[in-house]
Amino acid sequence: MDDLKKIIRDIPDFPKKGIIFKDITTLLADGASFHRMIDLIAHRYLDRKIDKIVGVEARGFLLGSALAYKLGVGIVLVRKPGKLPYKTRKKTYDLEYGSDSLEIHEDAFCPGERVLIADDLLATGGTVAAVVELVSELGAELVECAFLAELDFLRGRERLPQDKVYSLLHF
Ligand code: IMP
Repeated sequence: MDDLKKIIRDIPDFPKKGIIFKDITTLLADGASFHRMIDLIAHRYLDRKIDKIVGVEARGFLLGSALAYKLGVGIVLVRKPGKLPYKTRKKTYDLEYGSDSLEIHEDAFCPGERVLIADDLLATGGTVAAVVELVSELGAELVECAFLAELDFLRGRERLPQDKVYSLLHF
């Protein structure tokens, strides 16, 4: 797994001073690494009876759609406000400074559907905690939240349901 970690580059002071941003575009742009990353994550869910993937805007769409294709299931989009055309449910969550919101179509799931949430990176956990609430409010069953990478020192997994967090890589 070290080769996959090494291909992700650090960008200091992005998006603001003091933050070291993990830039996964280098991994996405390398065909062999992208393929391996999806195969490794998908393998974990082959026998977990997933009905739908939920992809979180925007890099979660890349991970989520490749996983959905591999597992032969559909993908549901969680987007920034105002982007989804049908009736939506919205969740607002706190950021370090201010707040942000995410939306999902209110008819995204049939009752009890088994859902896997996919995003590129788990940092403080605020983003995916909001997605977990949306999934639960719409009557679906959360199987797990899957990430390409997790920043362990931010302890984001503590904000997510216990034993329902999986990250391929840890920093
Ligand atoms: P959280 O809500 O603090 O866990 O932040 C996670 C969200 O912010 C994810 O949707 C990520 O795409 C994005 N994010 C935060 N930090 C990074 C980073 O270092 N690299 C890539 N994405 C990041």
